[in-house]
Amino acid sequence: MPLSRPDTPATTPASAGRRVILLGATGSIGRSTLDVLRHAAATGRGRLELVGAAAGRDAAGLAAIAAEFGTRDLALATAPSADLPEISGVRWSIGPDAATELLDRVARPGDLVVSAIVGVAGLRPTLAAIAHGCDIALANKETLVAGGDLVMPALAQSGRRMLPVDSEHAAIAQCLAAVSDPAAVAEIVLTASGGPFRTWSRSRMAEATLEEALAHPTWSMGAKVTIDSASLMNKALELVEAHHLFGLPAERLSVLVHRQSIVHGLVRLHDGSVLAQLAAPDMRTPIQQALIGDASCPGAGTPLDLASMATLDFEPVDESRFLAPSLARRVIEAGGTAGAILNAANEIAVEAFLERRLPFLAVVDTAAEVLASMQPRPIERLEDVLEADREAREQARNLLSRARREAIG
Ligand code: NAD
Ligand code: MG
Repeated sequence: MPLSRPDTPATTPASAGRRVILLGATGSIGRSTLDVLRHAAATGRGRLELVGAAAGRDAAGLAAIAAEFGTRDLALATAPSADLPEISGVRWSIGPDAATELLDRVARPGDLVVSAIVGVAGLRPTLAAIAHGCDIALANKETLVAGGDLVMPALAQSGRRMLPVDSEHAAIAQCLAAVSDPAAVAEIVLTASGGPFRTWSRSRMAEATLEEALAHPTWSMGAKVTIDSASLMNKALELVEAHHLFGLPAERLSVLVHRQSIVHGLVRLHDGSVLAQLAAPDMRTPIQQALIGDASCPGAGTPLDLASMATLDFEPVDESRFLAPSLARRVIEAGGTAGAILNAANEIAVEAFLERRLPFLAVVDTAAEVLASMQPRPIERLEDVLEADREAREQARNLLSRARREAIG
């Protein structure tokens, strides 16, 4: 399988006066993206215009964005209980397909769409953005995990670019830009902080509370990705994401635990040398790379001060305690709808954990059990992904209610 290199900021600076559409505008990545837009305006670099914004249920948050950035097209997945804020000249789309409707109304070829909705809900809008000829700045990894077999060919056909925002993948893209011969690349290594339970035994993790799982040692992120980071499912999803982005098989993708989250990704070359990308753990840095794409522009993120750091530690993942990375290898090898199955079961299990209906270790166990129980099928169209997603959610819900009945009985 040949290595593929998505266009990287180092080689493809964004053009001036770029139109940006932000999906997931009120979330953690959304807020960091708005910071980068403010920074771009303040520094006068990378002129960016926010022409559309979509969110789940925070109407007031979207209205504030429209007021600050002059954005005239907004989308909300869930109708608010109160009236929508009145803002003159602003058009709202409301409902589960609102983000896609917004794109149908606003997106033009060459726009940059920041895909930062959480979960597989981001898949349909991301495909719509590609169909409209937009470049994608991708934070929403679940989109590639579930639908990579649709997204990457659609992107290749459109001739547009996919700029990774996930910090590890942005780091790898930056390293790859420095490699003149793709055949020199032996392996891609993603780093993982190890999360709050890096040193915990399985029996201690079995008792982990929601608050402990949400207390990430190095990154401040949305709730779902924070729980995924504690279980290392985030790294599993990122391995599948890397497989689709860089076109490498499972045996040429690996994970290294690095608790300081300073080195984000490494590229091992056949000659024994290793390239690494370092930056402070601040998502504004990879977002800026995707949006402005000009490394000479001062950074919106926290600067890295290596001299103040005593050590950088690296250790292998202890797969006897963290089972998720092995599921990623299974998904990559199986292909087809396997990623959609793993992702959907994990989304259901994380939701149950966030609502205190499930113990921590049962999250990955549920995802593993659903993955083992379903036969992955090839993906030819979006409906194949959505059907696998629906079926896996139902299986996961059945497992959870059976476990609850057994606990009560
Ligand atoms: P978050 O929960 O903070 O924000 C999610 C956003 O999506 C919110 O604006 C929410 O309103 C919106 N949303 C949810 N459902 C929607 C729907 N159906 N339609 C439209 N909008 C909807 O999540 P986050 O931490 O910002 O993560 C977003 C994505 O980026 C995830 O896929 C995550 O894995 C990825 N990511 C996040 C980080 C990080 O530092 N937060 C880092 C790397 C990758
Ligand atoms: Mg990441």
